[in-house]
Amino acid sequence: MPWLLPRIVAALLAMLAGTAIGAWVGGWFDARTLGMALGGATGVSLATTLDALRARRLLDWLRGAQAAHAPAAGGFWGELAYRVERAMRTRETSIEHERGRLQQFLQAIEASPNGVLLLDADDQIEWCNAVAADHFGLDPARDRGQRVTHLVRTPAFVAHLQQGQFEHPVIVPGPLGRQTLSVLVRRYGDGMKLVLSQDVTERERSDAMRRDFVANVSHEMRTPLTVLAGFVETMATLPLTEVERQRVLKLMEQQTTRMQTLLTDLLTLAQLEGSPRPPADQWVSVDALMAQVRADGEALSAGRHLLVFHVPPGGEIAGSATELLSAVGNLVTNAVRYTPDGGRIDVHWRVRADGAGEIDVVDNGVGIDREHIPRLTERFYRVDGSRSRDTGGTGLGLSIVKHVVQRHGGELDIESERGKGSRFRIVVPAARVRVRHEAAAVADAPR
Ligand code: ADP
Repeated sequence: MPWLLPRIVAALLAMLAGTAIGAWVGGWFDARTLGMALGGATGVSLATTLDALRARRLLDWLRGAQAAHAPAAGGFWGELAYRVERAMRTRETSIEHERGRLQQFLQAIEASPNGVLLLDADDQIEWCNAVAADHFGLDPARDRGQRVTHLVRTPAFVAHLQQGQFEHPVIVPGPLGRQTLSVLVRRYGDGMKLVLSQDVTERERSDAMRRDFVANVSHEMRTPLTVLAGFVETMATLPLTEVERQRVLKLMEQQTTRMQTLLTDLLTLAQLEGSPRPPADQWVSVDALMAQVRADGEALSAGRHLLVFHVPPGGEIAGSATELLSAVGNLVTNAVRYTPDGGRIDVHWRVRADGAGEIDVVDNGVGIDREHIPRLTERFYRVDGSRSRDTGGTGLGLSIVKHVVQRHGGELDIESERGKGSRFRIVVPAARVRVRHEAAAVADAPR
């Protein structure tokens, strides 16, 4: 206790000084002893008052916000103030540090692509990040402290929380019905729960598409195979005349062609999905493309339709010749297949003022009801299944067209009216379109 000795010495000195003064003053009134006692008491009170004043200043500082430094003083009070202030500043620094770390931690969770929701033992919301707020339709500030099942009422979610079996994630619809969420719950601390949510809408959709696709392909293959198996059995068991044999063989050939077409279309789709985008610097002549499409269309129509091509010369599209031929070819083939005999099919190529290219295939055939139009490019989607199959369709043509167009950065636009006809338009972006002016000039020159 190094501070105690100086204080005792100071008190003694004050007492001695007070006694000496008291003795001197008391000598005048001949009451030396009383004077000494009063003098000693005054000395000690002065020393104590000084101490009390310093203590008071320190107390006032402690009661305040401690924004300024502790009151300066020497000796005991100085050291006390210094040590109290140092302890406080050290604690403040460490709280600040911890707060910073917590903030960083929360920011990291905030940046997570998954939703994070913290619940207390009563399933009340402690905290959630913005992704969880979006997934569950919550407001991170307003809904804090609310019971989550009062706000997220999706039955599958509520049942999962109540059952308390959290080994596996559950798939639940998002509260607004536009998302599918995978929700995983983990317990931590004292009955608290960590709820992790992930948007699996795309994954679920592509899983469903894959399942549908496999089911469709199996169905498409099984039908011709069943027919073929029937014919094989007929030929093996029944004695057929030559005419009957020829007829059966013809029908068998039709079925094998149907399977071959289906496989070719499936392979085309697989190639389109698996290969890099078509080059942007390989120029395909629209004249040559249209000449080929025209030859194929006329062969298929066999004179049953009027095919008119409006193709100003010199046009070029950057991309893959095979893919473009397959896309435009599919549209013209469809126009022939879905236009009754005697109908008319017009194919236009034009370069718009903004530099984009347009290929229109217009027919005056059976047309399509409005409600089918958005689904036409889905795989195996058919408006009229029997007409499609009877004319050799696979239900994959327009999905091939859409893929090709998208791979060239373009768009497919469909307009149609039942009984009146259809217009399929491929728009190719300006960056992939150019016109060779020499070719155009030669074509325009007077002959
Ligand atoms: P499909 O092999 O069945 O023709 P597509 O994918 O090419 O398959 O076309 C999908 C459906 O769109 C067709 O089944 C048909 O009902 C409709 N369709 C396509 N082109 C036309 C058209 N030019 N006129 C009327 N309907 C069409």
